[in-house]
Amino acid sequence: MALTPQQLERHKRHILLKEIGGPGVQKLLDARISIIGAGALGGPCAMYLAAAGVGEIEIWDNDVVDRSNLQRQVQFTEEDIGQSKVARLAQRLKAAAPDVRVLERQQRWSEAYKLAGSILIDATDNFETRFVLNRAAHALGRYLVSGAATRWSGQISVFASGVQPGAPCYQCFVPETPPDAEACEDAGVVGPVTGIVASHMALETLKLITGAGRPLIGQIGIIDGLGGISRTVKLNPDTDCPVCGG
Ligand SMILES: [Zn+2]
Repeated sequence: MALTPQQLERHKRHILLKEIGGPGVQKLLDARISIIGAGALGGPCAMYLAAAGVGEIEIWDNDVVDRSNLQRQVQFTEEDIGQSKVARLAQRLKAAAPDVRVLERQQRWSEAYKLAGSILIDATDNFETRFVLNRAAHALGRYLVSGAATRWSGQISVFASGVQPGAPCYQCFVPETPPDAEACEDAGVVGPVTGIVASHMALETLKLITGAGRPLIGQIGIIDGLGGISRTVKLNPDTDCPVCGG
């Protein structure tokens, strides 16, 4: 289907890039993604992807907006306090990109629920859901774009064990819940670090959809906010991994 004059104008800066172009924009318009978590990672990630023209965005979160969220969850305002994160984010996305279909799931995702997207985005804040989502992505054969941020540091990767045999999964990276695991609520986190991770997650998703560049598969991107540096480390598959090993 040809792009409309409005779409050509809206997406001009992507069309100008040889790695995206008109065909890439069409792929974005046809794409369906699922984001688990509508907070500091899921919110800005969803906004960039909606602005890029992603056709369908499913968002899962059972939380309501709290004043303490506003330091980093820039998709919300004071007026949103006490309201559903998914409902308020959906409204922001539709205002920014009127053509986007938003599937609002005002509940905590669990493996009892189907996921609509062909790319899954892990923007959660707890290990339990991360492990279950990783198992689901592997079993369903879908890409899992995963990000995390705490204090001054962030991590980002694309797990593709269900799509590319031999690629590591999340559990190859984090075999079990770390003993010192603490929620962001207890640890603190710098707002712009969550923004960097969220933008990077949107970037990796855009690359997967359009085929541009080289996605962060088998690698972990690490952001050190205090040092002002970012680096990439290699991640090998774990042959004993309970999800993708053997
Ligand atoms: Zn694995």
